[in-house]
Amino acid sequence: MADTVIRNVSIVDGTGSKMFGGDVVIDEGRIIEVGSATSKCNEEVDGSGFVLAPGFVDVHTHDDGALIQHPGMAFKVSQGCTSVVVGNCGFSAVPAVNGEKTLDLSNIESHWQDLEGYRRVVEDGNVAINSMMLMGHNTIRSLEMKNLRDQPTDKQLENMRQHVQKGMEQGACGLSTGLVYKPGRWSQTEEIIELAKVVSPFRGIYATHMRNENDQLLEAVDEALLIGKEAQVAVQISHHKAAGKANWGKVGASLSKIDAAVAAGRKVTLDVYPYTAGSGPMIQYFNLANPDKELAEAIQLASCPAFRQYEGRMLIDIADELGISPEDAVVLILTAPEGAKTICIQHVMNEADVITNLEHSLVMIGSDGLPDLEGRPHPRLYGTFPRVLGKYVREQKIVHLEEAVRRMTSLSCDVHGLKDRGRVAVGKWADLVLFNPNQIVDTATYEEPQQEAVGVQRVWVNGRSVYENGRHTGVGGGRVLRYNVA
Ligand SMILES: [Zn+2]
Repeated sequence: MADTVIRNVSIVDGTGSKMFGGDVVIDEGRIIEVGSATSKCNEEVDGSGFVLAPGFVDVHTHDDGALIQHPGMAFKVSQGCTSVVVGNCGFSAVPAVNGEKTLDLSNIESHWQDLEGYRRVVEDGNVAINSMMLMGHNTIRSLEMKNLRDQPTDKQLENMRQHVQKGMEQGACGLSTGLVYKPGRWSQTEEIIELAKVVSPFRGIYATHMRNENDQLLEAVDEALLIGKEAQVAVQISHHKAAGKANWGKVGASLSKIDAAVAAGRKVTLDVYPYTAGSGPMIQYFNLANPDKELAEAIQLASCPAFRQYEGRMLIDIADELGISPEDAVVLILTAPEGAKTICIQHVMNEADVITNLEHSLVMIGSDGLPDLEGRPHPRLYGTFPRVLGKYVREQKIVHLEEAVRRMTSLSCDVHGLKDRGRVAVGKWADLVLFNPNQIVDTATYEEPQQEAVGVQRVWVNGRSVYENGRHTGVGGGRVLRYNVA
């Protein structure tokens, strides 16, 4: 007796191939039949009217701490996500000093030092979904450098290399940077090349939040491509965008550079979230001595421990109410007690660039959601995948369903080494989502962001049912995956 059969369902297999009808049988965590099922099963699921696809892979997350703090991962499971890539933007929960706060965005107390230790804690916590780690440059640099503005000595560089090496040996998929953030912004290209070289023998990737995503976007792409070339690694460009009105439209030129590199035989991919606003730690974006006016006027507050009453509001309205300039409001908020913990939303992109990204065959989907559930997080945390399938696939027909699913599944798994996942095929892991293609859409908004999407019917992770028609089952069994290991 096999575990589960989903009958008479429309199968979108993740490869980009045209949808086809059939049954899918799951047993002991794997897919054992696709087509006309002959197995007898314990559970029969009527799939008529629904699409069955590989579970979505959120390739750009900051869920390192959330996998421990919120093991049910409701905000991801409810979107149909079955795996997340953590350690992005140079911030990872490993390495860490046992007993101290992690040097990632979750900043929780660690009970581990390395990826093996982290894996043990996460997997012991009944976590609902799978994950894959990137080794974060900002984290490693913060651990090894005394003065973060310095350039590393040979010894410090060697110590940093060893952290990357150990992470790769323990199953990380590559190195990530966040070169707009402290302390990554103080590192020179050569330092990144030296660290990325460690990843090369593992055929790992270099994932980057580039040094600039506005006026110098194209120069930043050049740097990322140079690092990939010199270190002989695949390049993964995070949350591709052109921020600031003066730069709108530049993603086309940026993608052309990437197309040229790919045509020359290089491996380059990207990800995007389907929104025109970004989000991150507010303290990282402003020079307090001279806050940028255009940016200040584009800020909405997501998490603001100093002024909870301001969460969800535009800074410009708060400033107006207080009778001060938006720049002064920036300083007021960031210098208040706990002000440095503020997470903001920046409305700085344009819709046409989002669409240009979604149309490109190398662009995967990644939420970049920040799982601080005490505030009003950017709606991408709860809405990213259903929004692509509802707004951009069904309503606007920007991309076909099969192609969108490919860039949420098989491409994501291939790039990040989630072996034997991302396809509905015999022998693959049963990470699956059953959804209604006529209903699926996000409901999270900037004002009310913590709302689960509609249209997702069932989700299985490693063959176990974690979500059933709006109900989280509480079943665990998610794994911290090893790069290219099934
Ligand atoms: Zn980033």
